[in-house]
Amino acid sequence: MTSTELLQPVDPSTLAELPAVASADAGGIEAAVAAAVAAMSGSWPRDHRRRAAVLYAWADLIAAESDVIAADLVRETGKPAAEAALEVAGSIDALRYNSGLARLPLGRATSLHDGSEAHLVREPVGPTVFITPWNWPVLLLLRDLAPAFAVGVSALVKPSPQTVHVTNRVVELGHRAGVPLDVLQVVPGGADVGSALVRHPDTAAVAITGSTAAGQAVLRDAAETMTRPLLELGGKASMLVLPDADLEAALAAAGRAAVITSGQMCMACTRVLVHEDQLAQAEKILREALARTAPADPRDPAAALGPLIGPAALEKVTGYLDLARRDARLVTGGEEVHPDGLPGHFLTPALVTDVEVTSPLVQEDIFGPVLMLESYATTEDGVQLSNATPFGLAASVWSRDTARAVSVARELKAGTVWVNGYNRSYAEMPSGGMRMSGLGRTRGLEGLEQFTELKHIHLSL
Ligand code: NAD
Repeated sequence: MTSTELLQPVDPSTLAELPAVASADAGGIEAAVAAAVAAMSGSWPRDHRRRAAVLYAWADLIAAESDVIAADLVRETGKPAAEAALEVAGSIDALRYNSGLARLPLGRATSLHDGSEAHLVREPVGPTVFITPWNWPVLLLLRDLAPAFAVGVSALVKPSPQTVHVTNRVVELGHRAGVPLDVLQVVPGGADVGSALVRHPDTAAVAITGSTAAGQAVLRDAAETMTRPLLELGGKASMLVLPDADLEAALAAAGRAAVITSGQMCMACTRVLVHEDQLAQAEKILREALARTAPADPRDPAAALGPLIGPAALEKVTGYLDLARRDARLVTGGEEVHPDGLPGHFLTPALVTDVEVTSPLVQEDIFGPVLMLESYATTEDGVQLSNATPFGLAASVWSRDTARAVSVARELKAGTVWVNGYNRSYAEMPSGGMRMSGLGRTRGLEGLEQFTELKHIHLSL
């Protein structure tokens, strides 16, 4: 790792190079960690009213610049403008919600049987590394950073090299809002920089959002110095449509959720499971819905589907599409197109059926606009099929019988299960993954606790 190593983000629609950024070198990492450690001795961890005010002011500054941040997001991720606006709105909401929580006392005190007293104190865990992916870079950073700041940690942010500029912009607004420079630092770089930060003996915790492989590597690194991990990783989210459900509404939601961020989203809908008697009808509805979703210039306010992030993603997704042509049936989509002559890697959304549950198409995180349509015979089979991947991030079940849907929801192995809905996330409600989708929970009160140490102070009276 040298100071001359350059990170080169590229606009995924135009393939134009964005300004290059120097990766942090060993000296830069050391200095950043030392500053984050020193910040934990300053007033930031102790002054919760100040933190509440700063988080609120930060939200206001982001709101005032929301158009510029959304334009950055479109340029760096290729996501459609409407989705970028949603990401900014969710980021503001995360800050405002956690601004209130900063004033919530988290401790507990009690008397014990021997006449002594116990104080349970929640202290900020210490300097924390935040490693973010490129796909929802602002929301996913603030989803974790806002609760961490509510409880008073200092932060070392290691963004994806592709989204370093939008991250810098949002962090600068944080500084303008009053977050001290040493409390919030960006440490640019690739996996090696992230790894060095996690392995550093003076970092106390890491929150990574990324692929399962990256999460596993971070967990191994974290073991060296007992760095506390929060792992928000990949998914293979499914929608189980019970025979009595509103099929049209369910499939419309699935079609939208399959193409969000061009399918490059951890909670994107990747599998739809319908009763075998409804398979033909479902295929027709989904084929038509996906055929209507044409890739477009993501800067167009009406665009619903932008490009893949880059050539490696295209190669990966087209590899799965070749497999679908061989081992399953590609019903529609999967063609490379160039809306408005844009050179980026745009794919028409694909629908695949007649696929075995053991196929890599069902078992692996394709991370592209590719939707599997599968069928089941009984509800028990449907549940089993839905649970038959190594992931457990999100799932959905649809039925007009809510009690039945809730009992099915309890059987689904996922950190979030939506009943008659999809992709509904709230700052108030914890989210996270089971199995290979991760460890720990973020958002809600649980999001605060993730970034605290619990200490028992015992008073002999
Ligand atoms: P990625 O795993 O390639 O990279 C994510 C981040 O981790 C980047 O900043 C990268 O530099 C860093 N990184 C990679 N290897 C590392 C290592 N060994 N040590 C330290 N840092 C390392 O993922 P990506 O392509 O940026 O994002 C897409 C992935 O993120 C998908 O798998 C997606 O499912 C997942 N994701 C999960 C959630 C969630 O909330 N669970 C949300 C969005 C994305």
